[in-house]
Amino acid sequence: MTDAPPRRVVVVGASAAGLTAAETLRREGFDGSVTLIGQEAHPPYDRPPLSKQIMSGDWPAEPAVLRRPEDLRALDLDLRLGRTAGALSTTARTVTLTDGTEADYDALIIATGVRPRRLPQFTADGVHVLRDLEDALTLRDRLTAGGRLVIVGAGFLGSEVASSATALGARVTLVEAAPLPLSRAVGERVGTHVARLHREHGVDLRVATHVTGIETAAGRVTTVRLSDGTPVPADDVLVAIGSTPNTEWLAGSGLTVADGVVCDAYTAAAPGIHAAGDVARWHNPLFGTSMRIEHRTNAAEQAMAAARNLLRPAQARPFAPVPYFWSDQHGIKIQAYGCLRDHDETRVVDGDPAQGRFLVAYRTGRSIAGVLSFGMPPKAIRPWRNAVATGADWQTLTEDRRGDLTVSP
Ligand SMILES: Cc1cc2nc3c(=O)[nH]c(=O)nc-3n(C[C@H](O)[C@H](O)[C@H](O)COP(=O)(O)OP(=O)(O)OC[C@H]3O[C@@H](n4cnc5c(N)ncnc54)[C@H](O)[C@@H]3O)c2cc1C
Repeated sequence: MTDAPPRRVVVVGASAAGLTAAETLRREGFDGSVTLIGQEAHPPYDRPPLSKQIMSGDWPAEPAVLRRPEDLRALDLDLRLGRTAGALSTTARTVTLTDGTEADYDALIIATGVRPRRLPQFTADGVHVLRDLEDALTLRDRLTAGGRLVIVGAGFLGSEVASSATALGARVTLVEAAPLPLSRAVGERVGTHVARLHREHGVDLRVATHVTGIETAAGRVTTVRLSDGTPVPADDVLVAIGSTPNTEWLAGSGLTVADGVVCDAYTAAAPGIHAAGDVARWHNPLFGTSMRIEHRTNAAEQAMAAARNLLRPAQARPFAPVPYFWSDQHGIKIQAYGCLRDHDETRVVDGDPAQGRFLVAYRTGRSIAGVLSFGMPPKAIRPWRNAVATGADWQTLTEDRRGDLTVSP
C-alpha cells in the first residue's frame, strides 16, 4: 500500500468476518469502493445455528441471514457472490478470481475461513461434513427417528450434532479418540460432564477409540469399523474432526501461511493486507502468544480491528481480545472466556457439579487463564471476564470460592 489512504478495499470471504469488515469500513466513514467476494451463492449467513436450531428442526431450512437485503444494499458494496478468489498478486495488488475476472485493491482483507477436514478412506454416499447451509440441510434431511448416525469426533461440532440428532430421535454413536469428549479444548473436568450429558440423553459415546474404515453396499455407507474391530451400523456418518484454513489461493503471494494467514498483533499480514476470522493466525499480546480462533465472536471482533487498522495504520491498535465462545448441547449452555488449553489446574468457583451446573476457573502459571460456565445463567460468567483479561492472581481470586477442590479424573 502507498502512504495515501486506500480508495479501493477488497474483502475476500463474505461471511461473519468479511461482512463485519465491510460494515466497519463504512461505519468508519470510508467512502471508497468496497468489493466483497464470496464463494457461496447465499448472502452472508450465520453458521452456529447450522448444528443447533437448523439441525434440530427448530428453525426453518433457510439461511440465518446476517443482514436484511436493504441493509446489505445500504453498504454500497461491489458484492460478488458465488465467486472464488483463485490467486493474489501483492505486487500488482490484484485478486484474480477463478472465473478469470480481477479485483484491484489498495488494501485487502482476507476472511476466507476454514473448511472441514475429511477422512480420505471415508468416501461413500451417506458420509457428511458440516460447514455450510447445504451440508446442514443434506444431513438434516437424512436424520429420522430411529435412523443411525455415527459421528466421528466429539469436539464442539460433533457434540452439538449428537445433541440435535438425538432430539430428533436418531440413534447416535459418537466416536472419540481421546478418553473424554472435548477434553483437549476444555479439560478433563468439563469433558467428564459432557460425557455424562451425552450418555444421559441416549448418545452411545465410544471414547479412546478411533475409526479405521467404512463398509458400503451399493455405494452407500452401512458400517463404521472401530480400531478394536467393532462394527457400528450406520445409515449416515458425520466426519467432525476439525478444519483446515482456506489459504491455497494465497500460494505464491509472498504472504506467510502457517496453519492460517500469519499476522502481527495489529492483524496485518503485510502492509495494507489484513486477515480476520477463522483463517487468521495472529499474535495476541494479551496472552503473549500466536492464536487462530474458530469462534463466532472473534470473527466479528477481529474483522472490526482489521478494518480500523487498515484505514488508519498510524493509529493502529493491537488486537488483544479475551477469546469467548459458547456452545449448546442437550439443553445446556456452555460459555467460556480465555485460553483453556494446556492449563495447569481447574477449580470450581460457583454452582454445584453434582447438580450439573457450575463455573470452573483454569489456572496457567500463577494466573487465571480462563473460565467456563456449564449450565449456569449467562450472567454468572460475566464478572470473571475481567479477571481473565488482567491475568488476575489465581490464589487471591479463587481462595474463598472453593466449592469443590476435587480436580476431576
Ligand atoms: C456448524 C457450526 C456451528 C458453529 N457453532 C459455533 C458456536 O456455537 N459458537 C461459536 O463461537 N462459534 C461457532 N462456530 C464457528 C463460527 O461459525 C465461525 O467462527 C465463523 O463462521 C467464522 O467466520 P469467518 O467469516 O471467519 O469464516 P467462515 O464463516 O468460514 O466464512 C468464510 C467464507 O469465505 C468463503 N471463501 C473461502 N475461500 C474463498 C475464496 N477463495 N474466495 C471467495 N470466498 C471464499 C467461504 O465459502 C465462506 O463463505 C460454528 C461453526 C459451524 C460450522
